[in-house]
Amino acid sequence: MKIGIVGLGLIGGSLGLDFRAAGHWVGGVSRQQATCDFAIAQGVADAAGSDFELLRDAEVVFVCTPLGVMQQTTQALIPFLKAETILTDVGSVKASVVESLEPLWPRFIGGHPMAGKEVAGIQAAQAHLFVDRPYVLTPSSNTPGDIKAVLIELIQTLGSKYYECSPAQHDRAVAWISHLPVMVSASLIAACQQEPETSSLALAQALASSGFRDTSRVGGGNSELGRMMAQYNRDELLRSIQFYRQSLGQIEMAIEQNRWDDLETFLSQTHQDRTNFVD
Ligand code: NAP
Repeated sequence: MKIGIVGLGLIGGSLGLDFRAAGHWVGGVSRQQATCDFAIAQGVADAAGSDFELLRDAEVVFVCTPLGVMQQTTQALIPFLKAETILTDVGSVKASVVESLEPLWPRFIGGHPMAGKEVAGIQAAQAHLFVDRPYVLTPSSNTPGDIKAVLIELIQTLGSKYYECSPAQHDRAVAWISHLPVMVSASLIAACQQEPETSSLALAQALASSGFRDTSRVGGGNSELGRMMAQYNRDELLRSIQFYRQSLGQIEMAIEQNRWDDLETFLSQTHQDRTNFVD
């Protein structure tokens, strides 16, 4: 199959590596010549450049740019696509992306490969990034039936677990497990950094180990992506932050009032509930 990737960064580059390894032809389009040269050298794409002309024969095109430029990028891409081409995106937010891209192309379906790293750019692209990770498609009532089957087959070649839901359901779920954790983790780092006593701050920084590494990981990642998550999934993120405030408030109150049994009950419940989300 001839696959096009627009935006050769962490996600676009990682898709390119896996699709090529599965025997597909991959054409990559990115703004910078250095990105394209790197993509060719690393085996991310068979051909890469800044001209959409490169994707004339593509059967499926993945838009992998930052969320904020997906609409304008897709508008620029569309005159180069043949009528049968399937268009999809990899954006971390779905309702706003589907709303803006679906009217542009009749053979569009929203998607989200749910794997990532703290680092961005083509240099961070990695083979097998999506193995055993969820890959969500968000078809709407307008989505032509045949295009889902083609994408599911490609998702299977990545080794991902396929899920399907509406864009709104997707955005509510990822607010909980992806966007809220970024903000909680970032606020943890910011709070620690506020320690006014310099010697205590220096000691805390020196002693920080695996627990802090785990809890600060997503808050110390790609700031542009964090901004986009909040900007494009604003209402769902705000909703989850309200619930989070309540939980933190419960913990704070129990500690303030020396209600140690209540605190232990709370923590033993979260110990159990964690397995509902991760192994
Ligand atoms: P990234 O590493 O920064 O890659 C994006 C690429 O898009 C850049 O390398 C850039 O290459 C290109 N690009 C084209 N137009 C651009 C513009 N106007 N501004 C900036 N870059 C532009 O980002 P990513 O992490 O792969 O994320 C890409 C998409 O995947 C986003 O929509 C995000 O929501 C989604 N996503 C991210 C993750 C994650 O954890 N990182 C996970 C799942 C989905 P050139 O400079 O060569 O143009």
